[in-house]
Amino acid sequence: MIGVLALQGAFARHVEALERCGAEAMEVRRPDQLEQCRALVVPGGESTTMAKLLLTFDLDRPLRRRLAESMPVFGTCAGMIMLARGVTDGRPDQYSYGAIDIDVRRNAYGRQIDSFEIDLSIKELDEPERPFTAVFIRAPLVERAGAEVDILAEVDGHPVLCRQGRILVSSFHPELTDDDRLHRLFLDSIS
Ligand code: GLN
Repeated sequence: MIGVLALQGAFARHVEALERCGAEAMEVRRPDQLEQCRALVVPGGESTTMAKLLLTFDLDRPLRRRLAESMPVFGTCAGMIMLARGVTDGRPDQYSYGAIDIDVRRNAYGRQIDSFEIDLSIKELDEPERPFTAVFIRAPLVERAGAEVDILAEVDGHPVLCRQGRILVSSFHPELTDDDRLHRLFLDSIS
C-alpha cells in the first residue's frame, strides 16, 4: 500500500498514476492511514500550507518517525521542498524534514505564468531513449546537492531529479502527464 499525502495540492493524479502501475494507493490525511502505508508520495502544492496542515492534522511527528525509519518517499515540487535539508525564500514559519541532503530555493523558476515543460533524458527509466516530459510549475531550484545525492536529471546545470537512499525528489510534476515511468521507478525501488 502506497500512501499519497492528501492534505493539499496535486494528490489525486498521483493516486491514479500509482494505480496504473499496479500498486495499491490511498490518500493519507490521518496518522492511522500513514501507518497502513509502506511508502509515501508527498505531492506538489504549496509547501507553506502543507507544513501548517501537517501540524494541524497531527501528521508531523508520525511522518518524522517514519522518515527516521527509512520509509521510502517520493516528493514532487512542494514535496521536494518538504523533504529538503535547506529551504531559502521560505516563509518564517516554514520547516522541512531534511530527509535528502539538498538545499532548494522556492519559486526560483518564476511565477505561475512562467510554468514550462521540458523533455528530460533519464537513463534510469524504462526505455531511457524516450524523453520524459517534465512540467515545472513555480518549481523549487536545487542550489546544492550533497555528495550522497544521486542526480538523475538536470536542467541548465541544476538537478531536477535526485535520489538519496529511499528518498526520491523531483522539482517538476511527474503526475501531470500520462507517462508513469517515474512512479514505476519509485515503486521498483521499494519492492
Ligand atoms: N511554489 C510551491 C511551494 O513553495 C511549489 C509549487 C508546486 O508544488 N507546484 O510550495
